[in-house]
Amino acid sequence: MKIERVETFQVQWDPNDEPARRSAFVRIHSSEGISGIGEASPMQGGAASLGIINRDMAPALIGADPLDHAVLQDRLLHRLVKLGPEGALTGALAAIDIALWDLKGKLLGQPIYKLLGGAWRTALPFYASIGRNGARERNVDEVCRVVEQRLKDKPAAIKIRFDNDRTLPDLDIKGDIAKAGAVRRLVGDDFPLAFDANNGYSVGAAIRVGRALEELGYWWFEEPVQHYHVSKMGEVARALDITVSAGEQTYTTAALVDLINAGVRMVQPDIVKMGGITGLMRCAAVCEAHGVELVPHQTQPTVGHMANLHICAAQAHATKPCEWDDPSSRRHVVFDNPPKPTDGLFHLPNTPGLGLAFIEQELKRRQIAAS
Ligand code: CA
Repeated sequence: MKIERVETFQVQWDPNDEPARRSAFVRIHSSEGISGIGEASPMQGGAASLGIINRDMAPALIGADPLDHAVLQDRLLHRLVKLGPEGALTGALAAIDIALWDLKGKLLGQPIYKLLGGAWRTALPFYASIGRNGARERNVDEVCRVVEQRLKDKPAAIKIRFDNDRTLPDLDIKGDIAKAGAVRRLVGDDFPLAFDANNGYSVGAAIRVGRALEELGYWWFEEPVQHYHVSKMGEVARALDITVSAGEQTYTTAALVDLINAGVRMVQPDIVKMGGITGLMRCAAVCEAHGVELVPHQTQPTVGHMANLHICAAQAHATKPCEWDDPSSRRHVVFDNPPKPTDGLFHLPNTPGLGLAFIEQELKRRQIAAS
């Protein structure tokens, strides 16, 4: 079997969406007539990753055996590493890897979690991840109203994000703590909560906010300081009792080890930003070896979400629920079986591959070929 064609495209979900809000998909077609779908990191509509796939990766993939996906990934990473191993390049590799796993599952007639060695669970709880749409500007009351809205989906936990402007650290420490306190009062003492600083604090401010979150009984404190200050992330993690998490902006297993060695005890690599399914399984092994929690970051509600669920299903120690960011159905329209939770759980289908199929007619209407 050979890879015959690599198709890359964005999907524009609503006619009024700006280009940066598009999703970036890849579909890899094999000589057997079977194809697989993957997704790249959505930053700026994923256009940079799709361009790298088209120009620099597709020529090397055509004619290759899709079952050699791990070899292909490592070969392309090393060949193209000077394009920058962080971001657009690893997003491109992630999309290809997910598509090739989907293809492999369809070829072998098995869901991906079976090919990973089996599922510990196929019903997966989730946490509602609340941010974007002006999260920074919401006042205490508005934050509480959004939380109330998301509680209707029966999440196992809630994470409030602060989507800070990274050039303006420590902007409103008192206000942030007030919001954390208001949400705690709203949900009661026992409901699991997380606080995502989105890299918004200096070290001292992060420790101060972390202490307040400990008092409020928060479950974890995400990305308190700039992601590139790895040793400082570790310093904050070591200074606090609350679990400090980071890693959604970590793009290689080596960088993940740096974060762990710095002192971070819960890491959050993202399947569409680094490594795809192959990469996340490597991260799982690294975390297992270091005794660190792996709780993948994931904000894309269809392909990325399904790929992530297969990983979380196959992971022995799932200490936290899976992230679920966008509860709207607007990105379900091109799939005949989009993932939707029932009674607080996502159920993984036992169909081959990712378990997702396009409705071609709906896809065509929204599809924009990548350049
Ligand atoms: Ca985050």
